[in-house]
Amino acid sequence: MQQVVNVQQPIITPRKFKVYQHRQLDKIEALKKVPDDMRFEMKVVANVLPFRVNEYVFNELIDWENVPNDPLFQLTFPQKDMLEPSAYQRMADLMSGKHTTNEVFDLATQLRDEMNPHPAGQMQMNVPHVDGEPLPGMQHKYRETVLFFPAQGQYCHSYCTFCFRWAQFVGKATRFNSNDADQLHRYLAQHKEVTDLLVTGGDPMVMRTRKLAHYLEGLLQPEFEHIKTIRIGTKSLTFWPYRFITDPDADDLLRLLERLVDGGKHVSIMAHLNHPNELRTEVCQEAIRRLRATGVQIRCQAPLLKHINDDPDVWASMWEKQVQLGLIPYYMFVERDTGAKRYFEVPLERTWEIFQKAYQQVSGIARTVRGPSMSAGPGKVEVQGVTEIAGEKVFALRFIQGRNPDWVQRPFFAKYDPDATWLHHLKPAFGEEKFFFEDEYSKMSAMD
Ligand SMILES: *Cc1c(COP(=O)(O)O)cnc(C)c1O
Repeated sequence: MQQVVNVQQPIITPRKFKVYQHRQLDKIEALKKVPDDMRFEMKVVANVLPFRVNEYVFNELIDWENVPNDPLFQLTFPQKDMLEPSAYQRMADLMSGKHTTNEVFDLATQLRDEMNPHPAGQMQMNVPHVDGEPLPGMQHKYRETVLFFPAQGQYCHSYCTFCFRWAQFVGKATRFNSNDADQLHRYLAQHKEVTDLLVTGGDPMVMRTRKLAHYLEGLLQPEFEHIKTIRIGTKSLTFWPYRFITDPDADDLLRLLERLVDGGKHVSIMAHLNHPNELRTEVCQEAIRRLRATGVQIRCQAPLLKHINDDPDVWASMWEKQVQLGLIPYYMFVERDTGAKRYFEVPLERTWEIFQKAYQQVSGIARTVRGPSMSAGPGKVEVQGVTEIAGEKVFALRFIQGRNPDWVQRPFFAKYDPDATWLHHLKPAFGEEKFFFEDEYSKMSAMD
């Protein structure tokens, strides 16, 4: 393996992975300090929304002196206001009286169904086919990039309270995933227009290296020369950095990444990073150093969230820290219209202001970041700003990605709306009836 010069290598003591889920809330030592009624609230919410946190996250990343406001606490522990007041009350009442597990399960299922569990038509649209068979473990929405959801990677080292894939982590919701490397390879071999494979989850880094290699190693064969880039979406860099240092197959993982890089692939770790505090620990910085020594790039992305990072200074310092550690700022997302959105949502106007005020503070090296971006049905739509055109106050928007590539980078305008938090709240500006892409998008939705 290549060595980075002049970097002192810290000694990292291995840590055993220990995880707590909703039935083990009472076993978390640090939580014993929080008031009883708050612990009860957490249990109520954890019956509906996913909860899973590992001991590294709550010992090293959360500042317990600052609970409940600590951003990493908000990021991983359930909060009362994540549920609608009436939904919260129903579950709290049920739990306070005599109840059976089945009753809790049934109510939870009902409440989840009211929280838009499958946003942007992700269960129905974008599922590709090979030789007439649907491939439920893949999504192919944008021409260049195929998403792959390996079956063994459909959970995470800890769950984020705002996850837009939350529904697959609770109850018996249908997941889309695949354990069929063969199907993946067949599809990619037949689609020469695809340049990027994005392996996602859950978190593919929960998988053993052997499994990951089973999907990825084959892509070094000549029939996959068109696959130039392999991206792996993960939160493990900050939620379980030991994956790259002391886990039994950590070195095998780095070797695998190195083989892909040496074989000519651009390998990008798409790190989900919500707050600069996640990057503070020595073990995280050592994971970054080891990963970078393999020749992979690390790009960073995250949604903007109330209670966690709705502050321009937080973003500016996060991007600066990323650049300092050799990471590349990539996307700022708008929180999607699903799950606990009510708790985390920020109006589009404010989202744009935070982006702008953060962007203004950093040099061009950190301005590789794009956003704020909404991953909506028609594509990724960036809020470019609020402005006035011919006396009308409007949002200026553009597609960063489009279901039709021709939509990309075309500016369009929506009526100013101070309360809008998502694309579907917006109406065309200048008295127009429809956005330019709407007819075509309706036809695509009907066909899918
Ligand atoms: C964001 C996204 C991609 C990748 O888009 P890039 O702009 O290339 O990062 C691919 N597919 C889907 C469904 C996405 O949401």
